[in-house]
Amino acid sequence: MRLSAFGKRFTRPSGILQLMEDLGTALAGRGNTLMLGGGNPGHIPEVQRLFRARLQEILATPGEFEQLIGNYDPPKGEAGFIDALATLLRREFGWDLGPENIALTPGSQSGFFMLFNMFAGVFDHGKHKKILLPLAPEYIGYADLGLAPHFFTAKRPVINILDRHVFKYQVDFSDLSLTDEIGAICVSRPTNPTGNVLTDEEIMRLAELAQAQGIPLIIDNAYGAPFPNILFTEIRPVWNRSIILCMSLSKLGLPGARTGIIIASEAIIETVANLNAILNLASGSLGPALALKLVRSGEITRISRKIITPYYQKRMEQALAWLRPGLEGCEYYVHKPEGALFLWLWLRDLPITSAELYQRLKQRGVLVVPGHYFFPGLEEAWRHTEECIRITYSQAPEIVQKGLAILAEEVKKAYAEDG
Ligand code: PLP
Repeated sequence: MRLSAFGKRFTRPSGILQLMEDLGTALAGRGNTLMLGGGNPGHIPEVQRLFRARLQEILATPGEFEQLIGNYDPPKGEAGFIDALATLLRREFGWDLGPENIALTPGSQSGFFMLFNMFAGVFDHGKHKKILLPLAPEYIGYADLGLAPHFFTAKRPVINILDRHVFKYQVDFSDLSLTDEIGAICVSRPTNPTGNVLTDEEIMRLAELAQAQGIPLIIDNAYGAPFPNILFTEIRPVWNRSIILCMSLSKLGLPGARTGIIIASEAIIETVANLNAILNLASGSLGPALALKLVRSGEITRISRKIITPYYQKRMEQALAWLRPGLEGCEYYVHKPEGALFLWLWLRDLPITSAELYQRLKQRGVLVVPGHYFFPGLEEAWRHTEECIRITYSQAPEIVQKGLAILAEEVKKAYAEDG
């Protein structure tokens, strides 16, 4: 097979593809892998019952199922859902927006592909621009989305030790001067992989910097408010016309429905709709149909706060309680878990790299994600990138408990190798 540069770009061997294969195999149930990698949301029975009932209602209503499967939605997304979402966001947060500020994409991953390549890459007169990730570690899924080389630039964070075994990353504003080379700033909040939630002040300062430079601040709100609200800390959600807020129905429990949401200025939404028409014709109709009534009634916010937040908070606390005793005596730190579905473990001065630890754990049937994948765009060498791993706690509790016990054994063994 003779491939173009584009074809080669997406087929070259990459650690991430290998890793995704490992994770996919584990989730498909082959072998007895203890799955502490991946970003699959938990299956929350109460939430799944609601979506099942809604689908049954669609099936029972004459013509509704046929409408749902038989028509393309417009490239911008299903109008009724977009209207209901604009109303919800105005009511919840007082944002000055309307349906003209919202577009749907087939998952937010494809939304990021569009947005990143709209604001970075090759510009007029051969100029190149990059996406700035002001706080690395950042979401692994961004790493390969750029169609141009050298697409990201990332900054090391400040590490604040909060307690004997707890730390928090913060944006290092002393190292954050923006140049013409930056086309947009992007942060996930809550952050995948760390569970960090950038403070209101950090977001305000980033928004001001972006606005002063005339570039957008992209906030990836895949885990944030008002849904799915996998947040264990109080924050003030923000949006204005120089912010692009990305949301998703995935972590609400609908990753299979592939529904991403982009909230932005009218001009950006029009461009996204054009791109969506060319790349996909339309986004899928299932997600908007399953979530429509919950958004219209506002019930989606209540479900998020009353069911989804406590579900993950309990899982997070449980995972920490299982992990800590096993690591007693080790020089470990956990990032303060403020949201999302991960624990980010920093194994300070670990004698082996996190990639080696990943291999050893895989041998023992436990899958985590080694930390070095989460630093796309960081140019300087930094030992810290090899001392961290991401642990997902959304799978069945017995799997998480068993996996964490093996993890602690392997970590202790590795530290003991130091002599
Ligand atoms: N952004 C973050 C931070 C994520 O963790 C994920 C998925 O894990 C996505 C975006 C992509 O989500 P979607 O399923 O909407 O494509």
